[in-house]
Amino acid sequence: MLAVCFVDLDHFKAINDTLGHAVGDQLLQQVARRISGCLKEGDIVARWGGDEFTLMLQNIQSTEDVAKVAQRVLNSLREPFVFNHQAFRITMSIGIALTPSHGQDVETLLKNADAAMYDAKHQGRNNYKLHSSVTIGKALDQLILTNDLHKAVDQNEFVLHYQPQLDLQTGRVTAAEALIRWQHPHKGLLMPGEFIATAEVTGQISAIDEWVIRAACAQIRSWQNRGNPLLRIAVNLSAQTIQQKNLPKKIAQILLEHRLDSSQLEIEITERVVMQDIPAAISTLQELKDMGIYISMDDFGTGHSSLAALKQFPLHSLKIAREFIQDLSPESREIAVVQAVIALGHGLNLETVAEGVEKVEQLEILRALGCSSVQGYLLSKPLAAKQFQQFIQTHNNPEELCKAVTEH
Ligand SMILES: [Mg+2]
Repeated sequence: MLAVCFVDLDHFKAINDTLGHAVGDQLLQQVARRISGCLKEGDIVARWGGDEFTLMLQNIQSTEDVAKVAQRVLNSLREPFVFNHQAFRITMSIGIALTPSHGQDVETLLKNADAAMYDAKHQGRNNYKLHSSVTIGKALDQLILTNDLHKAVDQNEFVLHYQPQLDLQTGRVTAAEALIRWQHPHKGLLMPGEFIATAEVTGQISAIDEWVIRAACAQIRSWQNRGNPLLRIAVNLSAQTIQQKNLPKKIAQILLEHRLDSSQLEIEITERVVMQDIPAAISTLQELKDMGIYISMDDFGTGHSSLAALKQFPLHSLKIAREFIQDLSPESREIAVVQAVIALGHGLNLETVAEGVEKVEQLEILRALGCSSVQGYLLSKPLAAKQFQQFIQTHNNPEELCKAVTEH
């Protein structure tokens, strides 16, 4: 068999925008070299255009053969690329079509490899997908999901769950992250991983983000009316939403409608979100910060961590990604990374919040390293509004909370 692969770099535009086209071009050359290094003699790699490459692989005996090559190509990008003494990581998405089963002419093979590549992007990028007739079924699923998403906003099918954050200095819960769930009429409760990527591709994400801000503010107001302790609630916003010029105005309006102080709202953005258009992100975030809204960098350390860019961002806190926390133990290598992020936070006058804390041991290490707050199953999983309120009421003093955590 022959395999045709369509390869597309993930978020390459961010590299061009941040570092300039000259560095982008050098990166493409280095990527091309790494891909070539993964191929056998007789295989072909070509630059298709922009940040797209195509591969033609010969003598393929089975789908495992081509899967191995695809994995090798993905692995070849694991080592960071270094330009001007700065290290960058980039990932790619690969779609594969095999002849004769996925087409017998150039056009069909390329088309099917391209469709498979989009599939790989939809499933979170940094992976490969083999074309299959199932793709048509999946495309249909996507289409149905897109239609359902349209209705979901109007019919109020989303709900927010709240995951508390424990302030390690005061021993109190001072904030919580609002996490979206979709109560789908036929499929049950869907997690964000099952629909946010589609919403981003179809442009529905901004309407969903706006719903999230409104719902979170309405919830804060309702808790406040019942005399609950004041908490800051964090919402996660996408790149498309952050790029809206009227976002600060819209948020100011929502806060006003619910008679809330801006300090009760927190906005979480990821590195990926801000890197898409740095100047625009900085100006919007600055405006939000000036309004008194709390700004956090989510999943810190997993994206294009440009320290040069980080110091320009108007932030209050860094959320340390769960990847670094899950294996955190006194002997682990993660401890060096976490220590460095916390030190960076101190240096830049930012709070640090560790995500995904599940063990008392991790909490103790984080406390010793000077981390500001923790979030994770050790304290509580994300809770529906009612359960969250109960949680806050039963754990509203540090001793209670400390007991609950250590008995976990
Ligand atoms: Mg988050």
